[in-house]
Amino acid sequence: MSDLEANPQEALCESSGRPGRRAERFPAREVPLGGVRGVTVFRTLPQRDLPTVGAWCFLDNFGSGSTARPHGSDIDPHPHIGLQTVTWPLNGRIRHRDSVGSDVEIWPGQLNIMTAGGGIAHSEYRVPDHESGAGLQLWIALPGETAAIPPHFEQHRELPEFKRDGLRGTVLIGSLDGQTSPATAYTPIVGADLRVDAGTAVTLPLNPDFEHAILVIEGELTADGHTAAPGSLFYLGSDRAELPITSTAGAHALLIGGEPFDEDLVMWWNFVARSHEEIEAARNDWEAHDLTRFPDIAGHTPDQRIPAPPLPPLHLKPRKRRCGVPHE
Ligand code: MN
Repeated sequence: MSDLEANPQEALCESSGRPGRRAERFPAREVPLGGVRGVTVFRTLPQRDLPTVGAWCFLDNFGSGSTARPHGSDIDPHPHIGLQTVTWPLNGRIRHRDSVGSDVEIWPGQLNIMTAGGGIAHSEYRVPDHESGAGLQLWIALPGETAAIPPHFEQHRELPEFKRDGLRGTVLIGSLDGQTSPATAYTPIVGADLRVDAGTAVTLPLNPDFEHAILVIEGELTADGHTAAPGSLFYLGSDRAELPITSTAGAHALLIGGEPFDEDLVMWWNFVARSHEEIEAARNDWEAHDLTRFPDIAGHTPDQRIPAPPLPPLHLKPRKRRCGVPHE
Protein backbone atom coordinates (compact mmCIF):
# COMPACT_ATOMS: atom_id res chain seq x y z
CA MET A 1 0.00 0.00 0.00
CA SER A 2 1.20 3.42 -0.90
CA ASP A 3 -0.11 6.65 0.46
CA LEU A 4 -1.51 7.85 -2.86
CA GLU A 5 -2.91 11.07 -1.54
CA ALA A 6 -2.18 13.70 -4.20
CA ASN A 7 -0.79 16.32 -1.85
CA PRO A 8 0.29 14.66 1.36
CA GLN A 9 1.11 17.07 4.12
CA GLU A 10 4.19 16.76 6.22
CA ALA A 11 3.49 16.30 9.88
CA LEU A 12 5.67 16.42 12.94
CA CYS A 13 4.31 13.99 15.48
CA GLU A 14 5.50 14.98 18.89
CA SER A 15 5.97 12.39 21.53
CA SER A 16 3.84 12.29 24.62
CA GLY A 17 3.90 10.59 27.97
CA ARG A 18 1.69 7.84 29.26
CA PRO A 19 -1.86 8.87 28.44
CA GLY A 20 -3.74 7.18 31.27
CA ARG A 21 -7.10 5.51 30.91
CA ARG A 22 -9.19 6.97 28.11
CA ALA A 23 -12.30 6.22 26.10
CA GLU A 24 -12.39 8.33 22.98
CA ARG A 25 -13.55 7.85 19.41
CA PHE A 26 -11.50 9.14 16.50
CA PRO A 27 -13.58 9.16 13.30
CA ALA A 28 -12.04 7.74 10.14
CA ARG A 29 -10.99 10.20 7.49
CA GLU A 30 -12.09 9.31 3.98
CA VAL A 31 -9.04 9.63 1.81
CA PRO A 32 -9.66 9.66 -1.92
CA LEU A 33 -6.69 8.00 -3.51
CA GLY A 34 -7.51 9.40 -6.92
CA GLY A 35 -6.73 7.61 -10.13
CA VAL A 36 -9.23 6.26 -12.59
CA ARG A 37 -10.87 3.99 -10.04
CA GLY A 38 -11.73 6.75 -7.61
CA VAL A 39 -10.82 4.58 -4.67
CA THR A 40 -11.51 5.80 -1.16
CA VAL A 41 -9.86 4.41 1.93
CA PHE A 42 -10.81 4.99 5.54
CA ARG A 43 -7.85 6.27 7.51
CA THR A 44 -7.90 6.25 11.30
CA LEU A 45 -4.19 6.86 11.93
CA PRO A 46 -2.49 9.24 12.07
CA GLN A 47 -4.96 11.70 13.57
CA ARG A 48 -4.19 15.27 14.46
CA ASP A 49 -4.80 14.51 18.11
CA LEU A 50 -3.66 10.91 18.01
CA PRO A 51 -0.57 10.57 15.81
CA THR A 52 0.40 7.15 17.13
CA VAL A 53 -0.89 4.28 19.26
CA GLY A 54 2.28 2.69 20.58
CA ALA A 55 4.50 2.68 17.50
CA TRP A 56 1.48 2.18 15.20
CA CYS A 57 1.51 5.31 13.06
CA PHE A 58 -0.77 4.55 10.11
CA LEU A 59 -3.99 2.59 9.71
CA ASP A 60 -5.98 2.35 6.49
CA ASN A 61 -9.05 0.22 5.96
CA PHE A 62 -9.56 -0.36 2.26
CA GLY A 63 -12.60 -1.96 0.76
CA SER A 64 -14.37 -3.07 3.90
CA GLY A 65 -17.55 -1.75 5.47
CA SER A 66 -20.89 -0.83 4.01
CA THR A 67 -19.86 2.51 2.57
CA ALA A 68 -16.51 1.47 1.18
CA ARG A 69 -16.07 0.53 -2.42
CA PRO A 70 -14.02 -2.52 -3.10
CA HIS A 71 -10.39 -1.60 -3.41
CA GLY A 72 -9.56 -4.01 -6.17
CA SER A 73 -6.65 -1.96 -7.34
CA ASP A 74 -3.01 -2.62 -7.84
CA ILE A 75 -0.41 -0.59 -6.04
CA ASP A 76 2.61 -0.10 -8.25
CA PRO A 77 6.22 0.04 -7.00
CA HIS A 78 6.77 2.69 -4.36
CA PRO A 79 9.33 3.28 -1.62
CA HIS A 80 9.27 3.25 2.18
CA ILE A 81 11.75 4.23 4.88
CA GLY A 82 11.78 4.14 8.67
CA LEU A 83 8.78 1.87 9.18
CA GLN A 84 7.32 -1.61 9.00
CA THR A 85 4.29 -2.20 6.81
CA VAL A 86 1.72 -4.68 8.05
CA THR A 87 -0.71 -6.07 5.48
CA TRP A 88 -3.75 -7.92 6.80
CA PRO A 89 -6.11 -8.95 3.98
CA LEU A 90 -9.80 -9.40 4.81
CA ASN A 91 -10.72 -11.08 1.54
CA GLY A 92 -9.17 -11.82 -1.81
CA ARG A 93 -5.49 -12.42 -2.31
CA ILE A 94 -2.63 -10.00 -2.64
CA ARG A 95 0.65 -10.56 -4.49
CA HIS A 96 3.56 -8.80 -2.81
CA ARG A 97 6.85 -8.15 -4.59
CA ASP A 98 9.73 -6.12 -3.22
CA SER A 99 13.29 -4.95 -3.78
CA VAL A 100 14.76 -7.57 -1.45
CA GLY A 101 13.57 -10.30 -3.81
CA SER A 102 10.25 -11.35 -2.25
CA ASP A 103 7.42 -12.49 -4.51
CA VAL A 104 4.62 -13.98 -2.45
CA GLU A 105 0.85 -14.29 -2.33
CA ILE A 106 -0.94 -13.53 0.88
CA TRP A 107 -4.37 -14.81 1.90
CA PRO A 108 -6.73 -13.69 4.65
CA GLY A 109 -5.49 -14.90 8.03
CA GLN A 110 -1.87 -14.51 6.96
CA LEU A 111 0.46 -11.67 7.77
CA ASN A 112 2.89 -9.79 5.59
CA ILE A 113 5.29 -7.60 7.52
CA MET A 114 7.93 -5.63 5.67
CA THR A 115 10.67 -3.76 7.47
CA ALA A 116 11.72 -0.81 5.33
CA GLY A 117 14.67 0.29 7.46
CA GLY A 118 16.89 2.56 5.37
CA GLY A 119 14.90 1.93 2.20
CA ILE A 120 12.81 -0.61 0.32
CA ALA A 121 10.44 -0.60 -2.64
CA HIS A 122 7.46 -2.88 -3.10
CA SER A 123 4.28 -3.45 -5.05
CA GLU A 124 0.99 -5.03 -4.03
CA TYR A 125 -1.31 -6.42 -6.70
CA ARG A 126 -4.67 -8.04 -6.40
CA VAL A 127 -4.58 -11.65 -7.56
CA PRO A 128 -7.10 -11.93 -10.43
CA ASP A 129 -10.09 -14.25 -10.18
CA HIS A 130 -10.51 -13.72 -6.48
CA GLU A 131 -12.80 -11.44 -4.52
CA SER A 132 -11.60 -7.90 -4.83
CA GLY A 133 -9.23 -7.26 -2.01
CA ALA A 134 -10.40 -5.60 1.15
CA GLY A 135 -7.95 -5.35 3.96
CA LEU A 136 -6.06 -3.35 6.50
CA GLN A 137 -2.74 -1.66 5.94
CA LEU A 138 -0.81 -0.52 8.97
CA TRP A 139 2.56 1.02 9.54
CA ILE A 140 4.75 0.69 12.59
CA ALA A 141 7.34 3.41 13.19
CA LEU A 142 10.83 2.06 13.74
CA PRO A 143 12.64 3.52 16.74
CA GLY A 144 15.66 5.71 15.99
CA GLU A 145 18.33 3.06 16.55
CA THR A 146 16.71 0.70 14.01
CA ALA A 147 15.25 3.26 11.61
CA ALA A 148 17.97 2.65 9.02
CA ILE A 149 18.59 -1.10 9.40
CA PRO A 150 18.79 -3.26 6.25
CA PRO A 151 15.32 -3.90 4.81
CA HIS A 152 13.74 -7.30 5.10
CA PHE A 153 10.42 -9.05 4.54
CA GLU A 154 8.54 -11.71 6.50
CA GLN A 155 5.43 -13.68 5.72
CA HIS A 156 3.67 -15.58 8.50
CA ARG A 157 1.09 -18.06 7.27
CA GLU A 158 0.54 -19.49 10.74
CA LEU A 159 -0.25 -17.14 13.58
CA PRO A 160 -1.01 -18.02 17.18
CA GLU A 161 -4.65 -17.94 18.28
CA PHE A 162 -6.36 -17.79 21.61
CA LYS A 163 -9.94 -18.44 22.63
CA ARG A 164 -11.93 -17.38 25.61
CA ASP A 165 -15.67 -17.15 26.22
CA GLY A 166 -16.92 -16.32 22.73
CA LEU A 167 -13.82 -14.43 21.64
CA ARG A 168 -11.28 -15.77 19.17
CA GLY A 169 -8.08 -13.79 18.79
CA THR A 170 -5.27 -14.04 16.28
CA VAL A 171 -2.03 -12.40 17.38
CA LEU A 172 -0.43 -10.52 14.48
CA ILE A 173 2.48 -9.09 16.39
CA GLY A 174 3.57 -9.03 20.01
CA SER A 175 1.80 -11.03 22.70
CA LEU A 176 -1.77 -11.24 23.91
CA ASP A 177 -3.45 -13.64 26.32
CA GLY A 178 -0.34 -15.81 26.54
CA GLN A 179 0.16 -16.14 22.79
CA THR A 180 3.13 -14.59 20.99
CA SER A 181 3.39 -13.85 17.28
CA PRO A 182 6.57 -14.82 15.41
CA ALA A 183 6.60 -11.44 13.62
CA THR A 184 9.68 -9.34 14.33
CA ALA A 185 8.96 -6.26 16.42
CA TYR A 186 11.36 -3.45 17.24
CA THR A 187 9.27 -1.80 19.94
CA PRO A 188 6.98 -3.18 22.67
CA ILE A 189 3.83 -3.54 20.60
CA VAL A 190 0.73 -5.67 20.08
CA GLY A 191 -1.72 -6.23 17.24
CA ALA A 192 -4.53 -8.78 17.21
CA ASP A 193 -7.54 -9.68 15.11
CA LEU A 194 -10.60 -10.28 17.29
CA ARG A 195 -13.71 -12.29 16.36
CA VAL A 196 -16.43 -11.83 18.93
CA ASP A 197 -19.48 -14.08 18.85
CA ALA A 198 -22.98 -12.71 19.30
CA GLY A 199 -23.97 -12.67 22.96
CA THR A 200 -20.40 -12.60 24.24
CA ALA A 201 -19.32 -11.16 27.58
CA VAL A 202 -15.61 -11.63 28.10
CA THR A 203 -12.65 -9.98 29.77
CA LEU A 204 -9.44 -9.60 27.78
CA PRO A 205 -6.16 -9.23 29.69
CA LEU A 206 -4.06 -6.28 28.51
CA ASN A 207 -0.61 -4.92 29.30
CA PRO A 208 -1.32 -1.87 31.50
CA ASP A 209 1.91 -0.21 30.35
CA PHE A 210 0.59 -0.15 26.79
CA GLU A 211 -1.92 2.21 25.26
CA HIS A 212 -4.54 0.47 23.13
CA ALA A 213 -7.15 1.18 20.48
CA ILE A 214 -9.82 -0.88 18.75
CA LEU A 215 -10.93 -0.65 15.13
CA VAL A 216 -14.24 -2.40 14.58
CA ILE A 217 -14.30 -3.81 11.06
CA GLU A 218 -17.78 -5.34 11.16
CA GLY A 219 -20.55 -5.53 13.72
CA GLU A 220 -20.51 -3.77 17.04
CA LEU A 221 -18.98 -4.35 20.44
CA THR A 222 -18.94 -2.66 23.80
CA ALA A 223 -15.57 -2.15 25.44
CA ASP A 224 -15.56 -1.08 29.08
CA GLY A 225 -19.14 0.10 28.65
CA HIS A 226 -18.49 2.16 25.50
CA THR A 227 -19.92 1.15 22.15
CA ALA A 228 -17.48 0.76 19.29
CA ALA A 229 -18.69 0.46 15.71
CA PRO A 230 -17.14 0.67 12.25
CA GLY A 231 -16.08 4.12 11.12
CA SER A 232 -13.96 5.21 14.08
CA LEU A 233 -10.87 4.18 15.96
CA PHE A 234 -11.83 3.66 19.59
CA TYR A 235 -8.91 4.80 21.74
CA LEU A 236 -8.58 3.28 25.20
CA GLY A 237 -5.42 4.91 26.56
CA SER A 238 -3.17 3.03 28.97
CA ASP A 239 -3.48 1.64 32.51
CA ARG A 240 -5.85 -1.16 31.65
CA ALA A 241 -4.88 -4.58 32.95
CA GLU A 242 -8.07 -5.98 31.56
CA LEU A 243 -10.76 -4.94 29.13
CA PRO A 244 -14.38 -6.09 29.51
CA ILE A 245 -15.86 -6.73 26.07
CA THR A 246 -19.46 -7.55 25.28
CA SER A 247 -21.25 -7.91 21.98
CA THR A 248 -24.92 -8.48 21.28
CA ALA A 249 -24.71 -9.06 17.55
CA GLY A 250 -21.08 -10.12 17.22
CA ALA A 251 -18.11 -8.22 15.85
CA HIS A 252 -14.87 -8.44 13.92
CA ALA A 253 -12.26 -6.00 15.18
CA LEU A 254 -8.59 -5.17 15.30
CA LEU A 255 -6.84 -4.38 18.57
CA ILE A 256 -3.63 -2.37 18.40
CA GLY A 257 -1.42 -1.22 21.22
CA GLY A 258 2.05 -0.60 22.45
CA GLU A 259 4.28 1.33 24.74
CA PRO A 260 3.63 5.02 24.01
CA PHE A 261 6.18 5.98 21.34
CA ASP A 262 8.54 8.51 22.86
CA GLU A 263 10.23 9.90 19.76
CA ASP A 264 9.15 12.79 17.57
CA LEU A 265 8.43 11.67 14.02
CA VAL A 266 8.10 13.41 10.71
CA MET A 267 5.80 11.54 8.36
CA TRP A 268 5.34 12.36 4.71
CA TRP A 269 4.03 10.21 1.85
CA ASN A 270 5.48 6.74 2.42
CA PHE A 271 8.29 7.85 4.67
CA VAL A 272 8.73 7.99 8.43
CA ALA A 273 11.74 9.94 9.63
CA ARG A 274 13.11 12.31 12.24
CA SER A 275 13.58 15.41 10.13
CA HIS A 276 12.50 17.19 6.99
CA GLU A 277 16.00 16.67 5.58
CA GLU A 278 15.74 12.90 5.91
CA ILE A 279 12.39 12.96 4.11
CA GLU A 280 13.79 15.17 1.37
CA ALA A 281 16.81 12.87 0.91
CA ALA A 282 14.60 9.79 0.61
CA ARG A 283 12.36 11.56 -1.90
CA ASN A 284 15.40 12.65 -3.94
CA ASP A 285 16.84 9.11 -3.92
CA TRP A 286 13.54 7.67 -5.14
CA GLU A 287 13.14 10.31 -7.82
CA ALA A 288 16.78 9.88 -8.92
CA HIS A 289 16.17 6.10 -9.21
CA ASP A 290 18.99 5.44 -6.75
CA LEU A 291 19.33 1.67 -6.98
CA THR A 292 21.59 1.47 -3.95
CA ARG A 293 18.82 2.63 -1.71
CA PHE A 294 15.78 1.47 -3.66
CA PRO A 295 16.72 -1.46 -5.91
CA ASP A 296 14.43 -2.40 -8.77
CA ILE A 297 11.75 -5.02 -8.19
CA ALA A 298 11.97 -8.10 -10.41
CA GLY A 299 9.09 -8.23 -12.87
CA HIS A 300 8.45 -4.51 -12.91
CA THR A 301 9.61 -1.94 -15.40
CA PRO A 302 10.93 1.47 -14.29
CA ASP A 303 7.94 3.26 -15.81
CA GLN A 304 5.68 1.49 -13.31
CA ARG A 305 7.29 3.27 -10.36
CA ILE A 306 4.91 5.66 -8.60
CA PRO A 307 6.45 9.13 -8.74
CA ALA A 308 6.80 10.97 -5.45
CA PRO A 309 4.36 13.84 -4.98
CA PRO A 310 5.82 17.34 -4.73
CA LEU A 311 7.38 18.03 -1.37
CA PRO A 312 5.46 20.82 0.34
CA PRO A 313 7.41 23.85 1.50
CA LEU A 314 9.01 23.23 4.87
CA HIS A 315 6.15 23.29 7.27
CA LEU A 316 6.31 21.05 10.26
CA LYS A 317 3.01 20.95 12.00
CA PRO A 318 3.28 19.76 15.57
CA ARG A 319 0.77 17.08 16.31
CA LYS A 320 0.28 17.14 20.02
CA ARG A 321 -2.08 14.84 21.72
CA ARG A 322 -4.88 16.39 23.61
CA CYS A 323 -4.29 16.26 27.30
CA GLY A 324 -6.83 16.51 30.04
CA VAL A 325 -9.92 14.83 31.27
CA PRO A 326 -11.08 11.74 29.46
CA HIS A 327 -14.58 12.18 28.17
CA GLU A 328 -17.58 9.89 27.73
MN1 MN B 1 3.52 0.36 0.66
